[in-house]
Amino acid sequence: RPVTTDMKTLTEEIGKFAKDKKVEIDTLKIREEYRKDFLGNVSHELKTPLFTVQGYILTLLDGALKDNKVNEKYLKRASKGVERLIYIVKDLDLITKLEVGDLNLEKEEFDIIELIKNVFELLEMKAAKKHITLTFDMAYANPIYVLGDDEKIQQVLTNLLVNSIKYGHENGTTEVSVENLIKNKVIIRVTDNGEGISREHIPRLFERFYRVDKTGNRDVGGSGLGLSIVKHIIEAHGEKIYVESEEDVGSEFSFTLEKVSKRD
Ligand code: ADP
Repeated sequence: RPVTTDMKTLTEEIGKFAKDKKVEIDTLKIREEYRKDFLGNVSHELKTPLFTVQGYILTLLDGALKDNKVNEKYLKRASKGVERLIYIVKDLDLITKLEVGDLNLEKEEFDIIELIKNVFELLEMKAAKKHITLTFDMAYANPIYVLGDDEKIQQVLTNLLVNSIKYGHENGTTEVSVENLIKNKVIIRVTDNGEGISREHIPRLFERFYRVDKTGNRDVGGSGLGLSIVKHIIEAHGEKIYVESEEDVGSEFSFTLEKVSKRD
């Protein structure tokens, strides 16, 4: 073949090689950024509760321990701080596993109605503290069988309901519904009439550590991991998650699941 063609091929090959290498380096750079970002966020999230716990312990050591009027109160607060740390570490563990794809889903058929009732029972007290009513259309007396990892789906529903309580108004309502969607799909909706989310935040809601109010002014604990965990779990199931929200009106988070026909 003429030399020129060879030269052309060679140049193309070199170009391609250089491009591949560049892509490789770019990917490494992005990963490195991601890692730094992740570590930065983790230490930031852990710092606040750690300093809080440290503060109470120091106050107790400083003499408050002997003061029967306050010692129990401070110990309880320190314990709450530790509890919060445990939640954050558990969420971090889960998100890490989900992000490296290290989490095996144990899919089986289960009754989604039963699961919703369980989650309601677990969160009843939390909702009652804010006088929030959890409602579920009891017309669904019959079981609806879906295919999924029931523990993970329970986590999804719990995170969504906990959020609806955290960001809900006193005396508000959260409603859960299950509807048939096209073909073998159901859609589960969690709707609240709480504070809602303004439009500009919606595209970033499912990012890990993303919180609308970063100032921490609000008295609602959270690490900004809840929704990213939800999204990972639903996507690992091959399903979809949606959000619709309006500030001062409320929010609706919904996700799909595969429905299995009832067997006798
Ligand atoms: P966290 O609740 O720990 O901050 P999430 O990932 O669960 O983290 O949620 C991210 C953010 O989305 C929250 O900080 C909150 O601002 C907003 N958000 C989530 N759910 C709701 C809801 N039901 N109503 C209003 N805002 C919400």
